[in-house]
Amino acid sequence: MDKKNIPMHWKILIGMSLGVFLGLALAQFEWGPSFVRDWIKPFGNIFINALKLIAVPLILASLIKGVSDLKDLSNLSKMGFRTVFTFVLTTIVAVCIGLLLVNLIKPGASISEETRLDLLSSYETEASTNISKAVVQQETGPLQGIVDIVPENFMGAAADNRNMLQVIFFALMVGVGLILIPGDTAKPVKEFFDGLNEVILKMIDIIMMAAPVGVFALLATLVIDSPSLDLFAALGMYAFTVILGLLLMIGVYGLMVYFFTRRSPLSFFKGIAPAQLLAFSTSSSAATLPVTMERVTEHLGVPKEVASFVLPVGATINMDGTSLYQAVAAVFIAQAFGLDLSLGTQLGIILTATLASIGSAAVPGAGMVMLVIVLAQAGIPEAGLALIFGIDRPLDMCRTVVNVSGDAAVSSLVAKAVVSSDKLAKAQLEEVQV
Ligand code: ASP
Repeated sequence: MDKKNIPMHWKILIGMSLGVFLGLALAQFEWGPSFVRDWIKPFGNIFINALKLIAVPLILASLIKGVSDLKDLSNLSKMGFRTVFTFVLTTIVAVCIGLLLVNLIKPGASISEETRLDLLSSYETEASTNISKAVVQQETGPLQGIVDIVPENFMGAAADNRNMLQVIFFALMVGVGLILIPGDTAKPVKEFFDGLNEVILKMIDIIMMAAPVGVFALLATLVIDSPSLDLFAALGMYAFTVILGLLLMIGVYGLMVYFFTRRSPLSFFKGIAPAQLLAFSTSSSAATLPVTMERVTEHLGVPKEVASFVLPVGATINMDGTSLYQAVAAVFIAQAFGLDLSLGTQLGIILTATLASIGSAAVPGAGMVMLVIVLAQAGIPEAGLALIFGIDRPLDMCRTVVNVSGDAAVSSLVAKAVVSSDKLAKAQLEEVQV
């Protein structure tokens, strides 16, 4: 096979495997870890930075173009409603799967008293840092989340990738403005953003050429920095429960795509494989966004105006993997402390995990910070975070894959609905004309 024809997901997989292999090999030498940190890790950082660099301009250009292409505000509100409705529904399904599994498997019951005390003391400091971060979030009023969506200064919003919702808000307003002003006046502005959008898509292609090297560096670093195998064994049942739940969620997406769009799940997952691998390697839906966008538009046939609306919003608020993990982690900690959670409390977890996942930033480790809120609401000791801290990164990698897959699945569903309703409207118009 010609080198050029190797599909991207294979190249990324090869990069990942070599990274793990090299990390394991170098860990055997005393100088290995510092060599990896000094000479390999920077390439991973450059790759992630390059992806993050284009996130804000991408959202801006593609969303403004996408919304202004809709031509009609009712199309936007229809799409918005469908998108948010499906996001919330899939998140609730994810939390329910998590709760069901953790209650059936009871991973917390198998943690011995000794291991529990060990883990609590090893990760005490890290856990309390997370708790204090979450307390800041908790202390704000109930409507603060909505207030935070509206930035007081565009430059301020665009200056921080964590402010994605603010950039989305601004882009939506510009798009709506473009629909409402006369076509002649809107034309040059639209053309500018169309052109900018094309340039950014090309930049994604260029950055993706470096993906195999980027993931190689990321994985080698991860292996060097990962905790001991003993920890994995102690928390094995917990990790198994989370991963099983995440796999079931992937199955749910396959079924959703099959039933609503008639696309085979295999071709759907093949289409988004590079985005999934990148989500796994970077643990960040935000960093993966440019690639998710490219894959669904170019390989799954999702129209650009749909993808440019659904995906940025999804990357920020639709985190099914995170919500599932939060439900499992909360009940696991309760089990480990010997607490019995009532049905009412578990129903409360459905609500808080849904909200906490919406509030989680699309960056590594964010889900764990927001988990504190779920624990607090359910009356589970927040110090329990220390129990799961050591194994959080690998689970973060897996839940990010689910977060990104969920966004892609919903974009296919919304695309199908939009295309069908367009066809219906055209047919009705033709009928009237006849
Ligand atoms: N890393 C996840 C994401 O970016 C968020 C989380 O920590 O669960 O999608």
